[in-house]
Amino acid sequence: MARFLRLLLGAAGLAACVSACSGSEEPSPAVSGGAAGASGSSGAAGSAGEAELGGAAGASGSGAGGSAGAEADAGSDDATTDVALDASVDVEEGGSDAPGDVAPDPCEGKADGAYCGGALGVSSSKLVTCEADQTLSTKSCANGCLQTSIGSDVCKSACCLAKPPGSFVRGYNACSSYSGGGEHYGIDYSSALGTKIPAGMDGTVVKVVTGYGNCWGSGSGSIACSTSCMAHYNMIRLKAACGDPDNSKRDFYVEYAHVSKIATGIKVGSVVKKGQTIAYVGESGCASGPHIHFETMSVAKGAAPTVHTCGSVDPKTRYCP
Ligand SMILES: [Zn+2]
Repeated sequence: MARFLRLLLGAAGLAACVSACSGSEEPSPAVSGGAAGASGSSGAAGSAGEAELGGAAGASGSGAGGSAGAEADAGSDDATTDVALDASVDVEEGGSDAPGDVAPDPCEGKADGAYCGGALGVSSSKLVTCEADQTLSTKSCANGCLQTSIGSDVCKSACCLAKPPGSFVRGYNACSSYSGGGEHYGIDYSSALGTKIPAGMDGTVVKVVTGYGNCWGSGSGSIACSTSCMAHYNMIRLKAACGDPDNSKRDFYVEYAHVSKIATGIKVGSVVKKGQTIAYVGESGCASGPHIHFETMSVAKGAAPTVHTCGSVDPKTRYCP
């Protein structure tokens, strides 16, 4: 993946990466026979297929958006409400003891509203409602607390992304908000060939590409893969039913690249449940060994997702707590 972009960027991009990310690219957990198998299996490209769900995908998104909103509101279902003990605690002691002995209310000095506990010095999974500088109530958020704008924090909904299987080998490092200025728009997880890949979220399959073999080693010189090789890999892409976990008003896409095959019965248009097997780990395309390139995209409702752009977000920022 990285190399593909680098080629597009030309020599300047290559030079930049040599200093910024040499040695870290597409680490190969199991390079076994990577180069050897490369050119032979690339012939499979002849039977490659690609299917994609077009604008109609937006339809499922709108319904999904509704449910996401419902889930956000349902924070109270997941949470236990503990009424603050403020009044009863300091009733008796107030008279003689110095006021300094009493811990200040975490809401002191805060505008009325709801705050994730982390911002108030209490547990970050709590949602504290403040009123008149006092704690009005405290909830435990089953899925963690989401900071939004001041005083409008909410318990996270059950809309979140499950980490894919495998061991972390390479992180997201792209776009200006990340140091290093790298060019890896997803996270790589290595895993045994054929490991089941469960859907990270409830959603709809919107794109499937199949038929490609491994082509590692098809490049020349220090370039491990040819341009064509880098552009061709098997993958499956989901559109999350609940939208972006951080903003249900946006669409969210989850892509698993380099897969070996798609699970039986799974095709574009399939509605899948979180945890359902949708594909199997592979090393198709420019991969030095079996791994998942895991990429997630947050886009405006109805907008087309594009991989390897700054519409891609660091997947781990959307992981379930
Ligand atoms: Zn990758």
